[in-house]
Amino acid sequence: MALGVRALRVHFCASRHFLKTTAVYHQRHFSENVSSKSKASAEPADHILYTQEHFALKDSLRKLIDQEINPFVDKWEEEGQFPAHRIFKILGSAGFLGVNKPVEYGGLGLDFSYSVAVAEELGNINCGGIPMAIGVQSDMATPALARFGSAELKNEFLLPSIMGEKVACLGVSEVGAGSDVASIKTTAVRKGDEFVINGGKMWTTTGTQADWMCLLANTSDGPPHRNKSLICLPMNLPGIHIARKIDKLGMRSSDTAEVFFEDVRVPCKNIIGQEGMGFTYQMLQFQEERLWGVANILTMMEKVVQETINYTRQRKIFQQPVLYHQVVHFRLAELQTEIELLRSLLYHCTALYIKGNDVTKLASMAKLKAGRLARELGDSCLQYWGGMGFTSDVLVSRFYRDSRLMSIGAGADEVMLSIICKYMDILPRK
Ligand SMILES: Cc1cc2nc3c(=O)[nH]c(=O)nc-3n(C[C@H](O)[C@H](O)[C@H](O)COP(=O)(O)OP(=O)(O)OC[C@H]3O[C@@H](n4cnc5c(N)ncnc54)[C@H](O)[C@@H]3O)c2cc1C
Repeated sequence: MALGVRALRVHFCASRHFLKTTAVYHQRHFSENVSSKSKASAEPADHILYTQEHFALKDSLRKLIDQEINPFVDKWEEEGQFPAHRIFKILGSAGFLGVNKPVEYGGLGLDFSYSVAVAEELGNINCGGIPMAIGVQSDMATPALARFGSAELKNEFLLPSIMGEKVACLGVSEVGAGSDVASIKTTAVRKGDEFVINGGKMWTTTGTQADWMCLLANTSDGPPHRNKSLICLPMNLPGIHIARKIDKLGMRSSDTAEVFFEDVRVPCKNIIGQEGMGFTYQMLQFQEERLWGVANILTMMEKVVQETINYTRQRKIFQQPVLYHQVVHFRLAELQTEIELLRSLLYHCTALYIKGNDVTKLASMAKLKAGRLARELGDSCLQYWGGMGFTSDVLVSRFYRDSRLMSIGAGADEVMLSIICKYMDILPRK
C-alpha cells in the first residue's frame, strides 16, 4: 500500500538526527514539494512503481541538486574532485543517503524503490562522477553493513554515513583482480582480537577523502568463495597509504585512489556478519549497486537526448534544422525507445526485488543493456552536435566520457553476460 504523505514525513522526522540537524532545511524543502500539488499531480497518477511520495522525494532532491550541486559541477570537474564531506552532509541531513536504511540508524526505512527514485533524480547532476560517489556511499558500500552488521558497527559506521558525517568507500578491486573478485590477494590475518591487513586496493572511488572503507579481504586460506570477509576499516589507521589519485578519461570530479595496506591492525569485531561470508555478501551488495547504476544513467541518457533535440532544432544545415533530417530524428526516436525499454526492465526488476525475489539475472541484463545503450547513445548524440560535440563545454561530451565506465565498472559487460549465461544454464562447466 502506498505510504501516505504524512507517514512519509513522519519517517523523515522519525530520525532523531534528522530532527537535530536539518529540521528547518528539510521541512522547508520537503513540505514545499508535498504542498505543491500542481507539480506532483503532473506526474502519472498510475505509475507502475512510483507513488506521489516517490515523486515528492524526487522533487525535493531536485531542488537541492539545482541549488547546492549543479552550480559548482564545472569547477569540481576541472579540479578533479568534489568536496564529498560538504555535499554528503547536505544530502545526509535531508535524508537522501539512507532512504531504504533502518530508521534507528538515521535512514528513512523505505523500500529499495525509493533508492531507485533517488538514483534516477541524481541523474540530473550535470556529470557522472558526483552521482557515482553518492551511490557508493548510499547503495554500494553500505547495503551489507545494514543487513548483516552488528549494532555496534552500524552505530559506528552506518549511522554517520547515512547522516553524511562520514564518507565511505568500497574496497573490492585490486591491481590484479577486478572482474575476477574471487582472486583478490589482500589478506586480513587474525592475531589475538585484531586482524592484520596487508595488500592493496585499486580504483577506490572517493578513496582520497573517505573516513572508512568497506573492505573485502581474505581471512583464511580456504576456497576462494568461502575465505573472504567484509570488514569496516577506518581510513586513518597507521599503515594505510594513499598511493595516488588516478587521472581518468571521465568521472573527473570523483577522486579515484590506489590504496596500500601495510600491517594495518583493526579489531576483529569490525567484521561484517559472519567470517568467510564476504564474497556472498559482496555479490548480494552488487545487485543494489547495479540497479542503482541503471536508474542513475537512465536520467542522464534522457537528458542528453533532450539536449540534442534542442540543439539540432535550432542549428541549421542546408537551409533546415539538423533535426529535420530524417536520419537524425529517426535515430533519436529509436534511442528514446531503447531508453523506455530499459526503464521498463529496471522497474520490473525493482518491483520483483522489493518483494524479496532473486533478481540477479534481470539486474545483470539491465546493467549490460545500460552499458551498451549509453555507449551507442553518447556516440550518436555527440555526432549530431558536430564540432560543438567535441568541445568540453557541452554535456554530451562529458556524458560520452563518463558513461563509458558503465560497461566496465561494477562488473564489466562480459561479467554480466557470464552471469546471464549461468542463469540460462548455457555457460560451459569447467
Ligand atoms: C572510475 C572507476 C571507479 C571505480 N570504483 C571502484 C570502487 O569504488 N571500488 C572498487 O572495488 N572498484 C572500483 N572500480 C573498479 C571496477 O569495478 C573494475 O575496473 C571492474 O570490475 C573491471 O575490473 P578491471 O579493471 O580489473 O578489469 P579486468 O578484470 O582486468 O578485465 C578487463 C576486461 O576483460 C573483459 N572480461 C572480463 N571478464 C570477462 C570474461 N568472462 N570473458 C571475456 N572477457 C572478459 C572485460 O571487457 C573487462 O573490461 C572502479 C573503476 C573505475 C574505472
